[in-house]
Amino acid sequence: MEIQFHGAAGEVTGSCHLVEVAGRRILLDCGLIQGDRRAEERNRESFPFDPKTIDAVVLSHAHIDHSGRIPLLIRSGFAGPVYTHHASKDLCRIMLKDSGYLAERDAEWENRKRQRKGLKPVQPLYSMQDAVDAMKRFRGLPYGKRKKILPGITVRLADAGHILGSAIVELWLEEGRERRKVVFSGDLGQKGAPILRDPTPIAEADLVIMESTYGDRLHRSHEDTMTELGAVIARTRADSGNILIPAFAVGRTQDILYHFARNHDVWGLGDWRIFLDSPMAIQATGVYLRHSDIYDREAAALWQRNGEHSLLPNLTLSRTGRQSMQLNRVRSGAIIIAGSGMCNGGRIRHHLKHNVWRSNCHVVIVGFQARGTLGRALVDGAKHIRLWGETIRVEANIHTIGGLSAHADQAGLMDWYGHFQGRPPVMLVHGEPDASAVLYAELGRTSNAPVRIAAPGQRVDLARMSGF
Ligand SMILES: [Zn+2]
Ligand SMILES: [Zn+2]
Repeated sequence: MEIQFHGAAGEVTGSCHLVEVAGRRILLDCGLIQGDRRAEERNRESFPFDPKTIDAVVLSHAHIDHSGRIPLLIRSGFAGPVYTHHASKDLCRIMLKDSGYLAERDAEWENRKRQRKGLKPVQPLYSMQDAVDAMKRFRGLPYGKRKKILPGITVRLADAGHILGSAIVELWLEEGRERRKVVFSGDLGQKGAPILRDPTPIAEADLVIMESTYGDRLHRSHEDTMTELGAVIARTRADSGNILIPAFAVGRTQDILYHFARNHDVWGLGDWRIFLDSPMAIQATGVYLRHSDIYDREAAALWQRNGEHSLLPNLTLSRTGRQSMQLNRVRSGAIIIAGSGMCNGGRIRHHLKHNVWRSNCHVVIVGFQARGTLGRALVDGAKHIRLWGETIRVEANIHTIGGLSAHADQAGLMDWYGHFQGRPPVMLVHGEPDASAVLYAELGRTSNAPVRIAAPGQRVDLARMSGF
């Protein structure tokens, strides 16, 4: 009975943990590594275990850094089911297909270069078809119901409040006379975040595997965050510029639309033109609309009143490339929400090209920016950026609104851990080393909990709890 940490150990992306019980092996998540090219090349390396020996995957949520290597796992011989929440299954249908599409395009681009050099072509990481095929393995689960997925392994999903369908995974493990309960936080949301319920408190665990993305940070309060966002809109109005919001298609986008809808009159949004310029975000918003049964009370009430049209009256969905290109000519009065969230691909790069050199434009960063991404460079105050071989001066105002993060901050993580009885051991994952180290110190100082920061390949013997 053991667990081994193979991804998001000492870093944020590539979530993947292997649990072995009574001869059965399951993976908690199987995510893509994201970041610069060098980081992403690691996705091509073979898995540090034989995919054929994995009996099942339990997926915490749809984000690609948790789900993105599943099609590759299947292509490498994994033959079992993927258990996840119903809503995550619906979101994965969109996200994995997009991921396959990006991989195909990446390979095409790479191969044009390689051909000129006389090198052999590379295969895409996986294809769109691989992603479509992978969906046949998905089994949807509800929150709050125990399910025995294999002899010795019972699973229950609890709402993690991070994105639609996101789950904390409770695992009951049995081997001979040994009984252990492992709780994997997945990604934890912020309390009071829009649309979704708060992360579920859990009381019992023998081992907690916990994310630590913002383990070194405190977000601003909800009120301050709304004031900040309102102020950016007012300033851009005074500057007669545009607002660009690089947003993750799933989660952040729907949150922003929800904030806009709620503050429509206060922020005077009636005289702006708001564009959702992302086919994937448009589809994901559709999935959010179909799962109103898991909304929090406020969102459910808003939905009850306004139905599917509670999105903004002046919201334009721009689906085609041509619609997107038309936005290049808009000089002021537009709010453009486009992916990707870290600006390392997608339509946002075109909008940056047309706006980032103008001092009356404002860029609002609303989510985590991994090292090596263009979004991170902007946050870190880059004076110039490179786009399609062109150097572009950064004159636009860059605002980082941390309060809109989909992740709990240090206080939120501490609060969630505080509900466990008897201070169970904690293994920290899903954080850059600095963030994990601060949370490590804080957990030790205030709760005296046995804490470790997971290293790649590290094992914990669950029967003996060795390593703690
Ligand atoms: Zn996530
Ligand atoms: Zn994550």
